[in-house]
Amino acid sequence: MDYTQRIIQLAKLIRSAKRVVAFTGAGISTESGIPDFRSKGTGLWEKVDPVAVLSVKALKRNPQRFYQDGFVHFLNLESIKPNSGHKVLGWLEQKKLLASVITQNIDGLHQKAGSQRVLEVHGHLRTGHCMRCQKKYKMFDIRKLIESGTIPPMCSCGGVLRPDVTLFGDPMPRDFWSAISEVEQSDLLLVVGSSLTVSPANSLANIAKRVAIINLEITSFDHQAELVIREKAGKVLSDLRSEIERQ
Ligand code: NAD
Repeated sequence: MDYTQRIIQLAKLIRSAKRVVAFTGAGISTESGIPDFRSKGTGLWEKVDPVAVLSVKALKRNPQRFYQDGFVHFLNLESIKPNSGHKVLGWLEQKKLLASVITQNIDGLHQKAGSQRVLEVHGHLRTGHCMRCQKKYKMFDIRKLIESGTIPPMCSCGGVLRPDVTLFGDPMPRDFWSAISEVEQSDLLLVVGSSLTVSPANSLANIAKRVAIINLEITSFDHQAELVIREKAGKVLSDLRSEIERQ
């Protein structure tokens, strides 16, 4: 099947499904300028070992290194804009062709692109909290502390502050459990820009009734998928929109 036939097929799959849910990963945001973890040459994994610097263990053992070597890559995402991939998912929801977006991303770009129902299975960058007294902080205030040289950022009680993102070693947040029932109630999972290697989030692909994958590289779930399109998410989703509007 060539690229155009795959787009036609994807549009048909979406139109004929009763309930479609999208599952996105770092790959949907690379076209906005945020590096993913595993792309060859540009992935963050080539610069830092996320397990070593972005884990709960690393944060507790060496919070300064956590912020300076790991979290620094996620500190200034506020000015980043959603790309056509995020926007088409927002448009699909508006057209009632997509029930929700489940995202592994912490960048908030789906909401910026107009998606209303977003489940963030790895948390987000809007807030953080003190690891000692649990006091909540806005990320804006945590960033201000870091920018003024307080690394790691500290709470007034003397505890270290951490972002409300799910680090390696953290329990999964409530949105993950909601995502499971969201996938169970759907009949098509549209995976966009994920290597599907991070567990347990990738188990959502296992419980989906049907799966379509848009990803630049091969994933270990490709053989289970009804349809795989190996192209940039922005292009595929824009072409999908044109095809749906044409049909
Ligand atoms: P990953 O880095 O493991 O995989 C990303 C996949 O996207 C790769 O297979 C790559 O081939 C593909 N890809 C890259 N650019 C693409 C494009 N333009 N179009 C289509 N595919 C593209 O990412 P993951 O599976 O999401 O897992 C990594 C973890 O890292 C996630 O849990 C996420 O929380 C976190 N993370 C988030 C961000 C973010 O919020 N933007 C950025 C980096 C990492």
